[in-house]
Amino acid sequence: MSRKSFAIVGAGVGGLATALRLANRGHSVTVFEKNNQIGGRNRERVVGGAVFDAGPTLMMMLDPFRKLFADVGERLEDHLDLVQCDPNYRVFFSDGEQINCTSNMAQMMREIDRLSGPKDASRYPQMLGEFGALYHASMPHFVRRNYDSPLDLVRPRSLKIALKHRMLGNLAKGIARYYDDPRLRVLFCLQTMYLGLSPHDAPFVYAVLVYMEYGEGIWYPKGGMVEISRAIGRLAESRGVQIRLQTPVCTVDGHSVLLESGEKIEVDAVIVNADLPYAERQLLPKANRPANIDKRRYSCSAYMMYIDYLGSIPELLHHNIVLGAEFDENLAQLFERFEVPTDPAFYVAISSKTDSTKAVEGHENLFILVPCPNLTHAFSHEDALDLQSKVFNRLERETSFRRDHIASIETTDPNDWANELNLDRGAAFGLSHDLLQSVCFRPSNKSREQKGVYFVGASTNPGNGLPMVLIGAELVEQRLQTDGLI
Ligand SMILES: Cc1cc2nc3c(=O)[nH]c(=O)nc-3n(C[C@H](O)[C@H](O)[C@H](O)COP(=O)(O)OP(=O)(O)OC[C@H]3O[C@@H](n4cnc5c(N)ncnc54)[C@H](O)[C@@H]3O)c2cc1C
Repeated sequence: MSRKSFAIVGAGVGGLATALRLANRGHSVTVFEKNNQIGGRNRERVVGGAVFDAGPTLMMMLDPFRKLFADVGERLEDHLDLVQCDPNYRVFFSDGEQINCTSNMAQMMREIDRLSGPKDASRYPQMLGEFGALYHASMPHFVRRNYDSPLDLVRPRSLKIALKHRMLGNLAKGIARYYDDPRLRVLFCLQTMYLGLSPHDAPFVYAVLVYMEYGEGIWYPKGGMVEISRAIGRLAESRGVQIRLQTPVCTVDGHSVLLESGEKIEVDAVIVNADLPYAERQLLPKANRPANIDKRRYSCSAYMMYIDYLGSIPELLHHNIVLGAEFDENLAQLFERFEVPTDPAFYVAISSKTDSTKAVEGHENLFILVPCPNLTHAFSHEDALDLQSKVFNRLERETSFRRDHIASIETTDPNDWANELNLDRGAAFGLSHDLLQSVCFRPSNKSREQKGVYFVGASTNPGNGLPMVLIGAELVEQRLQTDGLI
């Protein structure tokens, strides 16, 4: 196979992994990134003396990470120093109860027993076993797979597997079958919020997220999640990839990219890692934009606070989830009415609990993620202040957090996600993963309208989350192979 040249638009994890895969085959690859650092959503942010992972904080499902390194002749362990977070996280319920969620089966059963009694505890192993089987069936047959048409799913073998594991049913209803305690029903379906998706809109196949968490555990790469971006970026450069930072692309077609500077680069094919709906709207030539572009549905967004905190909050672990009184109302506000939640659920991470290099002595790096609506309706400065005050009030009630210990704070809201990373509608997790935008219904990684343009990243197959985006890079490599380009 002759040496081909590729342009990759965006140095997110999907773009970097694709670049590494193609360069490893001996092809010429240039990555164009609009910002001044690699990683996209998985990049670093420094606030005062504290260092943050700006987006992802949970490393789960190690298999696609291992596979990327193995496929280019390397070992994950030689590039990332992983520690397991145990417990996975602490959940604060609105009734004052807490639970430490762990992937240690016996300990988790004790925690469920303490919270809601032996009947629910005894159901846990069965649930996790069924979700493990779902995970092992869905990965090869539905996730690690390129689709040419939704009809691909209607093959007898695929249908049989989907029906056996109830993959197409509704997640929230499916979880309710296992437990009577409403707190457990929330505990085992809140994981779809990692995709910015309501569990009421999620197909049951997303119960694999519960297995990933409880069956395999949550990991932290020493130095932070950004080390994942850096390790892939370093390897890609060592195989000859050229990464051009602060180089926004304004137009792509199948054989070239036009930079905002006016420079035009001719290549054999273009892989777009920038958010797919944005790219279809802004980067493809007008005549080659898909007809259904305005019918797409989006994930929610996230209002973020990055706080250099003076002192320590001992009631919080590295990872924590704080739930409001009415989770369903919270979901309806986010996904149906696009309102700022009245009693928001939120996530808090303090990676300096595991990695003391992330904050100066006597401080912690307090990261708060509050799911909020995407830009279907405008998000204002007042909305941000409203969320901030609700979160601070709740933390003050539950923990020793005090707002006068905030040494420094910076925030990101839906407008920033849209402006800084070109995430369409400020949807921090990309296109929604509802049933009709999942698996074979998700926008393809090969443009149907513009020959020679491919996509990799959270809004194409298989979807959002670092492991999925890495599998996305595998799928693009396969596509290019099938199309005779590599
Ligand atoms: C707040 C938050 C928390 C998350 N938590 C987790 C977690 O705990 N675990 C997990 O696994 N996942 C998590 N995720 C999801 C994960 O971050 C994403 O799925 C993943 O990082 C997306 O990678 P990507 O390759 O799609 O591209 P992106 O990260 O979106 O990168 C795309 C790149 O393209 C660049 N770009 C855009 N337009 C242009 C242009 N015109 N020219 C040049 N460059 C351009 C952007 O600047 C960006 O660098 C989280 C996401 C968010 C937002």
